Amino acid sequence: MPPIPGSGLAKGLAVTLRTMTKKTVTAQYPDVQPELPPRSRGVIALFEENCTVCMLCARECPDWCIYIDSHKETVPAAAPGGRERSRNVLDRFAIDFSLCMYCGICIEVCPFDALFWSPEFEYAETDILDLTHERDKLRDWMWTVPEPPALDPRAEEPKELAAARKTADKLRAQQEQEQEQQHAQDDTGQEGNA
Ligand code: SF4
Ligand code: SF4
Repeated sequence: MPPIPGSGLAKGLAVTLRTMTKKTVTAQYPDVQPELPPRSRGVIALFEENCTVCMLCARECPDWCIYIDSHKETVPAAAPGGRERSRNVLDRFAIDFSLCMYCGICIEVCPFDALFWSPEFEYAETDILDLTHERDKLRDWMWTVPEPPALDPRAEEPKELAAARKTADKLRAQQEQEQEQQHAQDDTGQEGNA
């Protein structure tokens, strides 16, 4: 059957009308920044104060794209007669984001909470070599790491908090006991003088 003249035009207009009445989903980036979920895997940030140069992240990275250099330093004994200690000092921490596959293994395995996901994503480069970012840049990205979500009020108290609270209670009780003893001694002294 031959097509009815003008049916194509009517179909096209119907599609146009349908689309016009739908809510637009176009993101006006870069004029409007996208609202990313807090757990977005944008880039890896380094909190270098926590890094002990244990090398676990570099060893576990499936792409071998974490580069760490360090040297050993001797720390003098804390008290006379004590032993000197040696510690690792971080010289270089870099990640090659042209190789990274954003698997998050390095963040998961870090035992000292030194690596975090940041939702920052505006670090495109025109030269692939510039995608290796050094520690200063990784440290700067720490400022873009969102705060962790609030704890569920019905959740069990973390073990660390419970232990800290127990120690604080013990110390407070000890101080109160000492103060009471002091007061009792003062009272006895005053009675003796009278
Ligand atoms: S996210 Fe994965 S690939 Fe990227 S640096 Fe970490 S371990 Fe390596
Ligand atoms: S695993 Fe964590 S502490 Fe160890 S070298 Fe990597 S970032 Fe530093």
